[in-house]
Amino acid sequence: MALEAGLLEILACPACHSALKEQDGAQDTEGTELVCTGQECALAYPVRDGIPVLLVDEARRPL
Ligand SMILES: [Zn+2]
Repeated sequence: MALEAGLLEILACPACHSALKEQDGAQDTEGTELVCTGQECALAYPVRDGIPVLLVDEARRPL
């Protein structure tokens, strides 16, 4: 399910305020994630029913 056009441009990582990029998620996710472009942060936020869940508590942390 694609995100609404332009949505990524107004969203930012709630942890570090870097831009987010859309990417295919891991196998245990629902398909798409929004990944923080901040190099020190890089949290991956789930997208549920086409709605980004921008909560640090819900984010997948990088290894
Ligand atoms: Zn971030």
